[in-house]
Amino acid sequence: MNKENTNTTILNLKKGKDFEIFVESLAFGGMGLSKINDKIVFIKNAIPGQTVTARITKKRKSYFEARKLNIINESPDFSNPPCSHFNDCGGCTLQNLDYKKQLFYKRKQVFELYNKMGKFVNIKVEPILECGEQYYYRNKMEFSFSNKRWILKENDLGENKNFALGLHVPGRYDKILNINNCHLQHKTANAILNFVKDECIEQNIEPYDIKKHTGFIRHLMLRVGIKTNQIMVNLVTAYENKKILLPLASKLVKKFPEITSIVNNINSKKADIAFGEKEIKLAKNNYIIDMIGKFEFEISANSFFQTNTLQAEKLYEVIKEQCNFIGNEIVYDLYSGIGTISIFLSRFVKKIYAIELIKTAVVDAKKNALRNNIKNIHFFCGDLKDILKNDKLISLPKPDTIIVDPPRAGMHKNTIKDIVKLKPKTIIYCSCNPATQVRDIMELCNNNYKIIKIRPVDMFPNTPHIECVTKMEYKN
Ligand code: SAH
Repeated sequence: MNKENTNTTILNLKKGKDFEIFVESLAFGGMGLSKINDKIVFIKNAIPGQTVTARITKKRKSYFEARKLNIINESPDFSNPPCSHFNDCGGCTLQNLDYKKQLFYKRKQVFELYNKMGKFVNIKVEPILECGEQYYYRNKMEFSFSNKRWILKENDLGENKNFALGLHVPGRYDKILNINNCHLQHKTANAILNFVKDECIEQNIEPYDIKKHTGFIRHLMLRVGIKTNQIMVNLVTAYENKKILLPLASKLVKKFPEITSIVNNINSKKADIAFGEKEIKLAKNNYIIDMIGKFEFEISANSFFQTNTLQAEKLYEVIKEQCNFIGNEIVYDLYSGIGTISIFLSRFVKKIYAIELIKTAVVDAKKNALRNNIKNIHFFCGDLKDILKNDKLISLPKPDTIIVDPPRAGMHKNTIKDIVKLKPKTIIYCSCNPATQVRDIMELCNNNYKIIKIRPVDMFPNTPHIECVTKMEYKN
């Protein structure tokens, strides 16, 4: 190997060249981070404290990207990864970093995003709220079927490569790593995963070919009510064929009494998503129940539900604490999903208006309010890009507090403008992507809001993902 052991000659290195480097920190997104002569180097799959040999994969003006090849010195913060898929699967890339250190770096990343990207000075980030369960905490996983199994030569035991049920390997849309035991999802869900896999092989159920767009079965989505132990199996197929699926469904309900819902979503489109244009009920209900706090939620296959049920309760407690309600408030809950935040907060305020894009989620939300005997929430279905300007909404009482919880992409510019026009005293921004959160908060702060509190919450241990709740107030 043409290896350079130096911090100074890296600037002369070309793409594809190897060098030795000490990993200083962890970058937002989960790559190892070092600095050489003011040039930032991101090192894929490396953790702070390691000295590694790495190969340059990208050279840009202000930074380099590299891929870890070998570890020369292991990090003092190394923790033994329990998952046998760790080296191949892109799912939980921080399993080998001590949990306390994961928390340390996540908080640091939030600080740096606000401080450097957002240019906020004198900013304080509260301690990150740690998660009680570091494994088996996810209530939902989506696995893909494929006729192209991804396998490394050294792991090849001559198994069938024309069938796989598992997860995409990083950077390969067309190949699937067979997964037997996912350390993020509930243990019973792993047993169901393996059962479905064996049955599909035995019954010759044809996996989907993502390149040719042929074949039948595309995804297996498993959803577990962590507090109720109810399980949903969602089989996503390219077309409708109950004859193939009904025998599998009846075997599943016999074998796993926890299964209270089996549905089939049809996705005939090319897009590789587990979201169907049509849903067929195969067994029992088309929803499961889970609980956050003392509230019950009906969750259907295509509705968003916080993926870490137990930590969601703590996240909502953080939101509640930041809201600091006295009881007479009008609240807007934007991006409200199946109404979980609204329902959790309803008894502390006068009225909540909740807005959500997905129709089935709004249907679930209304049912959930009824189920929990809550009467002070009004639900609206629509796109926040424009719905706040609708005649129906413009005549609503003005909000004292707006809570927003958008998807990773953050808020649309129009939505930010509409919020500013509504001039709530308090805005609570809950986000699963602090980078877009900072971008949006900069815009709000340019419009007379100031940051009061920033509280990261670890919803996703062993992954680089960060949840963050930020409180803003109107400057008088
Ligand atoms: N607050 C909820 C859901 C948050 S996830 C909870 O805690 O469970 C984000 C939600 O925003 C999803 O339900 C998604 O369907 C919805 N959403 C995404 N884009 C939207 C848009 N443009 N307008 C309204 N809702 C949107």
